[in-house]
Amino acid sequence: MKAEEFMREKGISIGDYVRIIKEEEGEEVEYRGIVMPPYELSEGDTIVIKLDNGYNIGIALKKIKIIEVLEKAKAKPEVHFKAELEPKEGLPNVTILGTGGTIASRIDYETGAVYPAFTAEELAKAVPEIFEIANVKPKLLFNIFSEDMKPKHWVKIAHEVANSLNSGDYGVVVAHGTDTMGYTAAALSFMLRDLTKPVILVGAQRSSDRPSSDAAMNLICAVKMATSEVAEVMVVMHGETGDTYCLAHRGTKVRKMHTSRRDAFRSINDIPIAKIWSNGRVEFLRQDYRRRGDGEVWVDDKLEEKVALVKIYPGISSEIIDFFVDKGYKGIVIEGTGLGHTPNDMIPAIKRAVEEGVAVCMTSQCLYGRVNMNVYATGRRLLKAGVIPCEDMLPETAYVKLMWVLGHTQDLKEVREMMLKNYAGEITPYTKPNTYLI
Ligand code: GLU
Repeated sequence: MKAEEFMREKGISIGDYVRIIKEEEGEEVEYRGIVMPPYELSEGDTIVIKLDNGYNIGIALKKIKIIEVLEKAKAKPEVHFKAELEPKEGLPNVTILGTGGTIASRIDYETGAVYPAFTAEELAKAVPEIFEIANVKPKLLFNIFSEDMKPKHWVKIAHEVANSLNSGDYGVVVAHGTDTMGYTAAALSFMLRDLTKPVILVGAQRSSDRPSSDAAMNLICAVKMATSEVAEVMVVMHGETGDTYCLAHRGTKVRKMHTSRRDAFRSINDIPIAKIWSNGRVEFLRQDYRRRGDGEVWVDDKLEEKVALVKIYPGISSEIIDFFVDKGYKGIVIEGTGLGHTPNDMIPAIKRAVEEGVAVCMTSQCLYGRVNMNVYATGRRLLKAGVIPCEDMLPETAYVKLMWVLGHTQDLKEVREMMLKNYAGEITPYTKPNTYLI
C-alpha cells in the first residue's frame, strides 16, 4: 500500500503527532513523532516521522501494528511563497539545490506545520545571512534520504550543477543528507570535468527546528565557500562541536566519521582546504587547490553500475567473490585488512574474477595510510592475481571511481591506468604525518 492511501485510510495528516507500534524481529517497539511529508522512496511504502530527539526515521507500512494520532496538526497558516527574492546588485549568484536529508525540512512547533525549508522566503527567514553573501536561488531537485541515492541521482545532480554554473552562477551548493554525502561528493568530483567554479555539498546532523542545529551555520559557510576562488567539489560541515568554524573538505577525501556529532565529517589522509570562521573569514589551510577560471564545465556521466564494495573480515567466504562474478559484475572494490589483504583462501576466487575480466581493486579498512601489497606474501599473491592497489584512496571513493572508470573502458590494463591516475585529488602522492586523526 502507498503511504498516501494508508494515511488517508487512518485519518493521519502531515504534522500530526503520532504513536506507532511496530513489529521488529518478533518484538513490538513504540515510536512517537511528527508525521513528515513522504520522501520520494522508490516504493512509497514507508511513513516518515520526526522523533522527539529530532531524527527523521522511515517505518515500513507493513510493519506497523498500531498507529494512532496523539495530537492533530494545528491548521497550517497561509503562507505565500515568493518564487524568488529581489536580487541585490553586486552580489554573486549562487543556486542551492535541495536533494533531501535533515537539512531540507523543518517543523514550525507553534503551528505543527512541516515545511520544506527550500523556498527563498523560508531560507531568508531561517538563514537571512546567506542573502548578504550572495543572491541565493533555491531549487528543490528531489527530497530523499541519502541512503536512497542511486547513481542516477548523482547524474541528475551533476547535470543540474553544470547547468547552473554554465548559466552564470558563481558557485553552486548542494544540500544533501549526510549519510552518503561522501559518495555523492566523490561522484561529482569525477563527473564534473574542467570545473572552473566551486561546488559545495552541505548537510546537517541536527534539523533546523532544534536549538542545537548545525544547519544554519553549515549553510552560511557553504554559501561563503561557493563564492570562493576554489574550483573544486567540496563538503562543508562543522569543524568542531561548537559554532566556531566549518571545514571545507576535498570531495574525494572526506568521510562521515561519527553518527551524530556536529563535526562528523573529516578529511582522511589529507588536510581540509579551508576553515570558514563563523564571522565569514575564510582561512586557507593549503594552497594547492584548483583556481576559479573561465570556461564551461561539462558532465562526463558514463557509469558502470555493476560494481560492488566488499569488506573483508575473518571467516569471509570466497563465495562472495564468486557471486559477483557469476552475476556479471564488472568491478569489485575490496576493503581489505591492514595493508591490503584478504584471507589466503580467497585468492583463487579473486584470480578467477580477474581472468574473467572483472576489475578487482584493493583499499584498506584502516582508512588511514595507504595499501602496500609488497610487504607480505599474501599481498604479493594478490598482486600476482591481478588486483589493483588503490594507494590511499578511501574505499567509497574507489568504489565510485571504479564505476566511472568502467563506464569508459573495460580493458583491465586501461582500468588499472585510470584507477591509478589522479583525477580529483583522490590519491595523495605520499602519506603526510599531519593527516592522521585531524
Ligand atoms: N539518513 C538521512 C540522510 O542521510 C537523514 C540524516 C541526514 O540528513 O543527515 O539523508
